[in-house]
Amino acid sequence: MFFLNWWNPSITPTKNLRTITVKHTVKQFLLPFEKKEHFSYSAESIENLSEFEKYQLSFHPERPKYLDYLPVFDNVSECLQNDLHGSCLIQTHRAEISHGGKTWPVMLIGQQSGPTSDFEELKWVMKDHHQVVRWNHGMPTPAAFEKAIEAIAIAESENRIVITMIDTAGADPTEESESGGIAWKIGRCMQALAESTVPTISVILNRGCSGGAIALTGCDTVLAMENSTYLVISPEACSSILFRTREKANFAAEISQITAKKGLKNHIIDEIIPESAGPAHRFPNEARESFREVVGRWIEKLGSETMDGVFERRIKRWHVIGQWDTTTEEAILSYEKTVYNFLHKPPKNRFVFRHKRCRNEHNRHVADPVLYSKLLADNFVCDTCGHRYVRLTAHDYIGLIVDEDSFREHPETRYIVDRDILNFPDYSDKIVEAREKNGMSTALITGNGLLDGHEVVICATSFGFLGGSFCMSTGEKIWQACRIAIENRVPLIIQAAGGGARMHEGCSSMVSLPKIHLAISRVQKAGLPVITIVTDPTLGGVAIGFGSRGIRIFEHNAGNIGFSGKRVIEQYTGKDTSKGFQTTAWLETKGFASLVAHPLLLKARIREIIEAYPIL
Ligand SMILES: [Zn+2]
Repeated sequence: MFFLNWWNPSITPTKNLRTITVKHTVKQFLLPFEKKEHFSYSAESIENLSEFEKYQLSFHPERPKYLDYLPVFDNVSECLQNDLHGSCLIQTHRAEISHGGKTWPVMLIGQQSGPTSDFEELKWVMKDHHQVVRWNHGMPTPAAFEKAIEAIAIAESENRIVITMIDTAGADPTEESESGGIAWKIGRCMQALAESTVPTISVILNRGCSGGAIALTGCDTVLAMENSTYLVISPEACSSILFRTREKANFAAEISQITAKKGLKNHIIDEIIPESAGPAHRFPNEARESFREVVGRWIEKLGSETMDGVFERRIKRWHVIGQWDTTTEEAILSYEKTVYNFLHKPPKNRFVFRHKRCRNEHNRHVADPVLYSKLLADNFVCDTCGHRYVRLTAHDYIGLIVDEDSFREHPETRYIVDRDILNFPDYSDKIVEAREKNGMSTALITGNGLLDGHEVVICATSFGFLGGSFCMSTGEKIWQACRIAIENRVPLIIQAAGGGARMHEGCSSMVSLPKIHLAISRVQKAGLPVITIVTDPTLGGVAIGFGSRGIRIFEHNAGNIGFSGKRVIEQYTGKDTSKGFQTTAWLETKGFASLVAHPLLLKARIREIIEAYPIL
C-alpha cells in the first residue's frame, strides 16, 4: 500500500528491484524504462521518455528529498516538531545560505514525502507498520500544514526568507483530515504566503501534485528541478475521469502538460534548476550544486529588494498569472440569459412531487409528495435520503442578496472567457455547451449591486457551468472584482460553489488560486469586509481558494464542503464516511462553521455584518 502513491500499483516493488552496477554496487529501485537495453541517463534518453514515464521519474523513490537538500545550507536547525499524525510530511528548519558574498537567514519549509531516498533503507523502514502510518503515503495532514503556517510566521518575526520545497502526491484524502479542517488549513498556507512580509521562494523538488503542492507554491518565485512535475491531478485519476479507465494515463499526462519544462512554457514556473549531469536520483551531488546556484541567485535578488519592492513585484507577478480570452458583446448576447433554479411554491398546491429514486433508511422506495414549506425550510434537501433537489444559480444568489434590478455586471470582467490552452479533449465544446445551458460566459459573474442600499461588489458562481470548477478566468475575474472593491471602497461578497480546480486547464487553473488569495488579502488590507458564502458543493480548489477566506457564511443544509470529495475518500480508504459528513451541520460540530444561514436569510446576515464593520 505504501508504494501506491510512489509507484504504479500494478507493479510490485520487489519485481523491479535488482542488483545493478552503476557507480557503486547497491540495490536500487528501477523504473521499467530504466531496465530497457538502450536507456541511458543522457538528456536525450530522458527527453525521449513518454510523458507518463517522465511523471514516474519525478517521484522515483531514490530522488533526493527535502532532507537531502539541507547540506546546501549552513547552520541548519530544526524549527518546529511534533508527533501529530502526518506532521513529518512537512518539516521546518532555520538555516543560512551564503551567496554573492553575503549570508542570508532563511526558513526552510519542506515536504518530505518519505523517510529516506536510500531504497535499501526505505525497504527496511517500511516493514514497520508504525513507520508506514507515520509517513502517511507521502500525503500531508492538517498538522503538517499547521506547521508550515507557524513557520511562515516565525520567518516573518525573524526576518528570514521563506523557501518552500515541494514533494507530494497530494493532501491526505481521509475523513480524519477533513475533520481537522484540511481545506481551511491549506487555504491559510496560501494566505500566509500571499501576505508574507518576507520574500518567498518555492522549489518543486519532485512531484508537486494538487492542493498539497499549491498550498506552498504561491511564492514570489517558483523554481522547479528539471525532472520534476507540477500537476493538478494524477494522470491515472485524470484518465479515469475522462475515459473511465486508468489505462490512458500516458495520454492524460501528455495533454495535461505536467513536466517542469511545460510549466515554464505555460508561465507557471519561473526558472528550471538544471539536472545537467542526469536525473537527480543518479546524480544527487550535481543536482544539489545546481540547486545551490539557482536558489542562491534568487535569494540574493529578492533579499536585496526593499519589502515594498517585493510587494510590488508580488502584485505584478500574480496580476499576469493565468491565460484567458476576451469576447464581444455580440457573442455574449447570442447565449446570454438569466437562469434561475430556485423552486417556487406551486400556486395552488402545498405539496410538490418527490424526487425520483428516493429510498428511506430501510432501502424502501418512497414516492409520496413533499410539503413545499418543509422542502424550502430544508434548503431543497430531501429529508428522507439527503438528495438535493436543486442547486441555485449565480443569478439566484444575486437575486437573493442584492436589491431588485440593482446588479450591474462589471464591464472589466464581462468579456473575459475561458481559453483552452492545452487543446484539452472536448474542452472547447464543453464551454460552448455550458454557455448555452447557463446563459453565462464563464462559471463566475462579477458586478456591483446594492444590498439594502449599501453598495457592494458581488461575485457569484453557477455550479451548472462545468461544475463551477475553479479556472483561470475565475482567477482573473476575482482579481478584477477585488480591485474594483478597493477602488470604490465597498464590501466584497463572494458566493463559493464548485467541485475543485478545472482539470481541462491543467496545473494553470490551480496556479490561479494564490492569485485570488493575494487579491482578497489586498481587499482586507484596505480595511474592507470580505464575506464568503459557502454553498453545496465547495470542494478542492474552490474550498482552498475563496471558500477559505473572509467572514464565511455557510449555507443551511449544504453538503460536500471540504477538500477531498466523499467519493474520493471512500475509494481511497475503502470505508464509508460518517453520517452527515461534510454537511454544514457536521462542520459546525467540528468547529469550522460558526455562521450559518438559509439562502432566504443571507441578505439579512450580510447586512448585519456590513453595518457592524468599521469601514474607514
Ligand atoms: Zn429522497
